[in-house]
Amino acid sequence: METPTTNSLTTDVLIVGAGPVGLALAIELGLRGIQCQVVEQMPENGFHTHPRANLINQRTMEFCKRWGIAQNVRDVATAPDYPHTGMYLTSMNGHLIAKIERPDHGQDAKSAFSPESAQRCNQIWFDPVLRKKAQSLSSVDMHFQHQFISFEQDAAGVRAEIKDLQSGVNLRIESRFLVACCGARSPIRGLLGIDKDEGQVLGAPMSLYFRAHELWNYHTMGKGVLHFLIDEKGVWATLNSLNGGDLWRVTLHGGAKVWGQPDEIDHQSVLTKIIGKPFPYEIIAISPWVRRKLVTAQYRHQRVFLAGDCAHQNTPTGGYGMNTGIGDAVDLGWKLAAYLQGWGGEALLESYDLERRPVAVRNVNEATKNFNLRSFAEPRAELLDSTEQGEKAREELGREIIRLTAQELVSDGIAMGYYYKDSPVICFDEGVPPVQSVTDYEQSSYPGARAPHVWLETEVSTLDFFGEGWVLLKLGHAMINTHELENEAMDLGIPLTVKVIADSRVLELYQYPLVLIRPDGHTAFRSEHSPKNAGSLWKQLCGLSKSTN
Ligand SMILES: Cc1cc2nc3c(=O)[nH]c(=O)nc-3n(C[C@H](O)[C@H](O)[C@H](O)COP(=O)(O)OP(=O)(O)OC[C@H]3O[C@@H](n4cnc5c(N)ncnc54)[C@H](O)[C@@H]3O)c2cc1C
Repeated sequence: METPTTNSLTTDVLIVGAGPVGLALAIELGLRGIQCQVVEQMPENGFHTHPRANLINQRTMEFCKRWGIAQNVRDVATAPDYPHTGMYLTSMNGHLIAKIERPDHGQDAKSAFSPESAQRCNQIWFDPVLRKKAQSLSSVDMHFQHQFISFEQDAAGVRAEIKDLQSGVNLRIESRFLVACCGARSPIRGLLGIDKDEGQVLGAPMSLYFRAHELWNYHTMGKGVLHFLIDEKGVWATLNSLNGGDLWRVTLHGGAKVWGQPDEIDHQSVLTKIIGKPFPYEIIAISPWVRRKLVTAQYRHQRVFLAGDCAHQNTPTGGYGMNTGIGDAVDLGWKLAAYLQGWGGEALLESYDLERRPVAVRNVNEATKNFNLRSFAEPRAELLDSTEQGEKAREELGREIIRLTAQELVSDGIAMGYYYKDSPVICFDEGVPPVQSVTDYEQSSYPGARAPHVWLETEVSTLDFFGEGWVLLKLGHAMINTHELENEAMDLGIPLTVKVIADSRVLELYQYPLVLIRPDGHTAFRSEHSPKNAGSLWKQLCGLSKSTN
């Protein structure tokens, strides 16, 4: 008998790409029992030559808590006693220009508004934690060394051609939906005929990934995680601690144009210039990469959805990219599940683009602003001088850096403060929308915003109630009859849990005695009374009709 050249599979959702965004989506779908196949062209434990994201923001950590892996992330993140300090300096043995401490980042940090704190955990360690969780879910199948080649779609579904890179045998996967989580160089965007130019290029830096033991013993600046090296024209390199230990990454602005190709770079003189004197190190890899600015015009193309870097790219200045992509996965996951389980409608799927695209536009623009602030309009010739004039110039610049660029290092508003103001599946009210700031965040129960966190007991946050289905919060001591709301949910097959919390601190923060929280932890409706037409409200919130309450 001849060996078949094409195997085939059917599934609900095909996810292309097992980067952090594809994995986060697989977890969201897997925890909801949705069948999905994940195809990834790289081997399962591929060698990382280019360590990328380090900052796991509070919101992503809250999702990790819900997925049961927050401790696993902390276990591989930078240790509790290593400071998350950022510094602007002329060299590690030169002049310090500005120092930004981040007491709310790291393992032991306490936050007033979140049960979690931002962590520093490079994707080298973060992605495997996500992968292990996704692999533990029975409805998720992962195929490594499988390359997505092409797809076609119609009203019935999507048929994709995948190549098994080891055997060369083709795999055809038929699915109800396809989600492109295949990153910046997505082949799916190409097949859809969109973003052929791959967005605006902001720069082409070079990354030097190296090992150096106790590097802090070779300089005078003390321990920190982010070091911006400044000369008279602005920031020319950054030195990042990857693990609060022996692994480091230098990003050389200007890339190959200034420094030469990876095999030509004089890494010894570059690293000696950064530290200010020679030190022992071992280069692991040198990789060029491209800073891009892109938000694709449309996140949905019938049965194909785009998420993560495939849909938006920003310069890493601020650490927004992966965190934004994980937010996409969380938004899309429950909506696809609701649709496939029959209690979510077409408008719910449409709302993915309307909710998530504006978040990406904001984050991409803010990251670009952060990046542009790094070059000086006019050279500051005296900046490196060990003179009184030099000292004065550094003091002035330090004040400017704190005023203008601190937002790159402290961006709670980006992490937590977004709300879905253009969403058709949110029931807005007359309340005051949350202020949109990059740095600051104030908890708000305003419809479309992340529902607030309050510690109820030492280990229990209000956020712990959210994540599976819908939650109706009944707060304070008001005896409001919600039978119709509950019965209508049951009739429509909407998973709903009722949570009664008498604690007055929760009512104070949530402002209303009745609040409906979506499966992604965002507020959808709040009121003093039961809604007049509960059926119509549910239909709006689950995109089953366009009617409003
Ligand atoms: C230097 C640097 C620092 C960064 N720092 C931060 C930070 O601190 N915080 C932050 O939030 N973000 C940061 N980012 C951005 C972050 O790395 C990306 O946003 C994130 O990796 C995007 O995840 P993704 O899953 O969308 O895409 P990717 O991580 O790129 O994953 C896509 C996956 O799809 C696979 N794939 C592609 N094509 C195919 C195909 N045809 N078939 C099968 N598989 C395919 C790829 O192999 C890959 O594994 C940084 C980026 C860089 C470059």
